[in-house]
Amino acid sequence: MTNSPHCPWCPSQPDIPEHLLLHCPRHHSHRVALLHSLSAIHPHRPTLTDLLGGCTNTIQAFKTLNLIRTFLQKTN
Ligand SMILES: [Zn+2]
Repeated sequence: MTNSPHCPWCPSQPDIPEHLLLHCPRHHSHRVALLHSLSAIHPHRPTLTDLLGGCTNTIQAFKTLNLIRTFLQKTN
């Protein structure tokens, strides 16, 4: 992620966590793998808040953040 206000791959999209984690087509394959791994932790599709470690269950939040870290390492 850069300091640019727009996604490096999607000029019309803002460079924000929601776009990177949930929408950017550039990272689709990594996102599919991420959501597959997350499905073991989150019975329902996780929200952006969940993805950023905001779930109230700290163990669930910790596992989620570990998966997000892997996603970010692959996408950046
Ligand atoms: Zn994008």
